[in-house]
Amino acid sequence: MDNKIKLHDKFFKPFISYAEMEEAIDRLADRVNADFRDSDDVPIFLCVLNGAIMFTAAMMKRLNFKAELVSIKLSSYQGTASTGTVLIPIGLTAPVEGRRVIIFEDIVDTGNTIVALKEMLLSKGAREVRICTMLLKPDVYKKDERLDYVGKEIPNAFIVGYGLDYDELGRNLPDIYVLDEPKDKHMKYYILFGPPGAGKGTQATAMVEKYNLHHISTGALLRKEIAAGTELGLKAKSLIEAGSLVPDEVVEGMIESEFKTVTGVDGFLLDGFPRTIAQAEALDAILERNGEKVTSIVSIMIPDGMIIERISKRAAIEGRADDADVSVIKNRIDTYHNQTEPLIDYYKKAGTYNEIDGVGTIEEVRDRIFGLVDKF
Ligand code: 5GP
Repeated sequence: MDNKIKLHDKFFKPFISYAEMEEAIDRLADRVNADFRDSDDVPIFLCVLNGAIMFTAAMMKRLNFKAELVSIKLSSYQGTASTGTVLIPIGLTAPVEGRRVIIFEDIVDTGNTIVALKEMLLSKGAREVRICTMLLKPDVYKKDERLDYVGKEIPNAFIVGYGLDYDELGRNLPDIYVLDEPKDKHMKYYILFGPPGAGKGTQATAMVEKYNLHHISTGALLRKEIAAGTELGLKAKSLIEAGSLVPDEVVEGMIESEFKTVTGVDGFLLDGFPRTIAQAEALDAILERNGEKVTSIVSIMIPDGMIIERISKRAAIEGRADDADVSVIKNRIDTYHNQTEPLIDYYKKAGTYNEIDGVGTIEEVRDRIFGLVDKF
C-alpha cells in the first residue's frame, strides 16, 4: 500500500488493504449465497449511493442467485463527523412492495442511516429487509437492530477509500485509509487494576465517558477478531479452544494497532493488560516507539474480605455458580495478588502507580478516581 495521502486539508494513512477487503467480501458473499440459494423469489439489491458503489459491485460479482439492482441516495454525513440527522431518500426507483430487499451499505457508524432506511422500506411494504454492510464501527453503533451481514468491524475512526469519501474525495482508492490526526498533543494512557468485585467495569465506563478515552479490554479485542474471522482471530480461536494462552506478541500487536487506528479520543484505558512484567515492558516499548508513555495506573483496592462478600452477593443475585463457591473466589483472589503485586512494584518504581480506595459507594469511588485523573 502507498504511504500517507492528502485529501482536501487532511492526511490519511494506510489502514486496510484492498486484498484484505476482498477476502472479507468473499466470506460475506458466501454467507449471502448460502442464505438465498434456494429462494424462489427475486430479491432487490439496494445500493446506498455513493459510498456503497464499490462494495455493491464487488458483492454482485460474487452473488449467484437472481436479483434486481436498485440504488438510493441517503446520507447522514457531512465532513468527518456524523451529524445525526438522516436526510430524505432520493430516487427509490422501483416499488418494493411484497419484495425482499438486501441493503448494501458501505459503513454503519451510529446506525441512524441504516435503521431509518430499513424502516422506510418496511413502511413502503417490503416483505423483508436485510442489512449487509461492508464495515461496522461496533463501538459507536447504538441500535438494537440486528445487522444481518457485516464484512469487517473497525474501531471508531474516520476512513476513506473503497467507495468511502472525505467531502467527495477518496472514493476511488482501492485500499482503505484512516484519518491521520496531527499529534500536537500527547495521548493519556491509563491502566486499570482491581481485584474481582472492585467495580472496575462500572468505573471504567465512567472514566471513558468523562475523559473521552477508548477502553481497551484484551478479552473483548480477541472476541472481536474471532467474530470477524480474521487471520489473527482464527489463530487465537484455535489456541483458546486447545486451552492454550494467546501469545504475548499477538495481544501486543492488537493493542498497538488500537493505539494507532483509534482517532477522536484523548487517551486509552487499558483493562486486563499488562498482566505480567514482560507485558508491562512490551507496553513501555510500544509507547516509546510512538513517543508516548504510561500516564498512570489506577489501582482500585478493596480488602480481601470485601471481595468475597461482594462476589457472593453478586452470585446470589445473578445465580452465577462459579461465584458462589468461596474456595473458588479465594483462588481468584490469590491469583490476582500473585499476578498484580510484581506489577505494582514495577509501576511504583516508574513513579506512575496510584491507588484508589475502593470502599464506599460507586459515586464515592468514582469521585476519588476523578480527583486523581483530573491532575493529569
Ligand atoms: P450512521 O448513520 O451509521 O452514523 O452513518 C452512516 C453513514 O455515514 C455511512 O453511510 C457513511 O456515508 C458515513 N460514514 C460513517 N463513518 C464513516 C467513515 O469513517 N468514513 C466515511 N467516509 N464515511 C463514514
